Amino acid sequence: MTLTGYNAIGQHWVKGTREAFSAIDPSTNQALDTAFFGADIEQMEQACELAYHAFRHYRKTSASQRAQFLNAIGKAIMALGDTLILRAMAETGLPQARLEGERGRTVGQLAMFADSLQRGLTTVPRLDSAMPERTPLPRADLRLGHIPLGPVAIFGASNFPLAFSVAGGDTASALAAGCPVIVKAHSAHPGTSELIAHAILSAASETEMPDGVFSLLFDSHRDIGQGLVAHPLIKAVGFTGSRAGGTALMQLAQQRPEPIPVYAEMSSINPVCLMPDALASRGTQLVDGFCTSLQMGAGQFCTNPGLVIGFDSPELERFTEQTAEKLNQTTSQTMLTPGIHSAYEAGVGKWIQSPQVAMVAEGERNEKPNQCTPYLFSTTADAFLADQALREEVFGAASLVVKCRDMTQFIAVIHALDGQLTATLHCGEHDAPADVQAILDELELKVGRVLFNGFPTGVEVCYAMVHGGPFPATSDARTTSVGATAIERFLRPVCYQDVPNDFLPEALRDGPSKPIYRLEDGVLMSYGQP
Ligand code: NAP
Repeated sequence: MTLTGYNAIGQHWVKGTREAFSAIDPSTNQALDTAFFGADIEQMEQACELAYHAFRHYRKTSASQRAQFLNAIGKAIMALGDTLILRAMAETGLPQARLEGERGRTVGQLAMFADSLQRGLTTVPRLDSAMPERTPLPRADLRLGHIPLGPVAIFGASNFPLAFSVAGGDTASALAAGCPVIVKAHSAHPGTSELIAHAILSAASETEMPDGVFSLLFDSHRDIGQGLVAHPLIKAVGFTGSRAGGTALMQLAQQRPEPIPVYAEMSSINPVCLMPDALASRGTQLVDGFCTSLQMGAGQFCTNPGLVIGFDSPELERFTEQTAEKLNQTTSQTMLTPGIHSAYEAGVGKWIQSPQVAMVAEGERNEKPNQCTPYLFSTTADAFLADQALREEVFGAASLVVKCRDMTQFIAVIHALDGQLTATLHCGEHDAPADVQAILDELELKVGRVLFNGFPTGVEVCYAMVHGGPFPATSDARTTSVGATAIERFLRPVCYQDVPNDFLPEALRDGPSKPIYRLEDGVLMSYGQP
């Protein structure tokens, strides 16, 4: 398939009228072929209008029709074959195996949402029967169902060009909910974005979805992205990226005459807590696991372990030394963009300059463009508690070991952290259960996912996953952007009071024919489950 560099306004591919830009191969800093033409405001308006009209039909599609659409997207993505993988490699510097794995995850995610729709698992309607004889006042027939919010604007992530981008988790969950999607393509991987948009649109045609259910816009001035967030026909936003970008869009959404939710996933340093017996009983294993997790994808994972917390002890010293030995021998990896690389160098540079921080490991440095050199630093809990800057995300393969005097200081360090996506606790059988419980109690106030004796990179797409957490990990700690409950972000509850059966949404009617769980007068009922 030949790339056009055009915007997709529904099924119509149109050349943008703003400046063209090219993708950059981060391994060479050379521009890749194809000029991508930024959309103008009028084209953005057209995409919003079309999405609004599509919404009127799309929201009425059945769960099974939307499931077919999601599965067809997955098939169309696979049909892109190596064209997709090669373009994504060139635009991101990520290796083939990683991108093939990510493609599998993207398609698997679509299939899982489709399955969830087909088995009636996305929401649980609640029905309370009428009580006409109740005194002193009768009760009406009340039925709570969920409807989609409306057209959604999505900003794909740079670090997962497939699984968190054009057909990634946000798009899949909004489409599953019944919301049309307009994606503002990430400027780092426009060709990958165009290819995936073709796959989505061919699936939309094949499954007879309304024109406007999906659009893709390139933005050469950031005003298209901002225009989408401000547009009155857009009813929610999905975003993965920097804290600065996410908070700018959150503010914009709040300033609208009708504020809308922005589901932004931003920054997280994912603390790893090492208890004494874990270090004593399996120190070498911890070093290996930690080094692998830290360097995965050149550290450009939102769940990258950027902070280690332990007690100042010979065991923690040995862990630090052995980790340093390993990292000193590692080779550098290409980062996603020159901007991300320079932000990494600046972040690491601040730690290098800090008199309170010791650099204990520095991996390979070389002259190739945009290389991520792995680093390990160490500091005291006193210094960490005194300097907010040490708690900020350095996006890449760098981590900071914080040495605590005692349990009180350990808890104080966790307490001082901002919200996180994950926290990990490594403990052994001889660690005091009261200490483990105290740390867990503090950690769960800070994060969306707590792990025991594992490493945070690698986020399973399943029913129980939470990929979220308090600000700045995300903008809304009540939600997740991975896993089946991600769909709920794009739905809202509506209560139908005394509405005749024939006018009710299918899921709320008497004797539902499709598979569904419902809470009826406080009792969980199952209909048509396999
Ligand atoms: P980014 O700069 O926030 O960009 C993400 C997307 O939002 C891009 O499409 C970008 O447009 C758009 N955008 C950002 N700010 C905007 C604004 N004020 N108005 C309108 N649109 C805006 O993130 P990035 O480029 O992916 O990476 C930069 C940094 O973000 C990294 O160095 C890292 O610190 C952080 N990051 C964190 C995570 C995480 O999961 N924790 C993941 C990725 C990145 P353009 O395409 O025009 O740039």
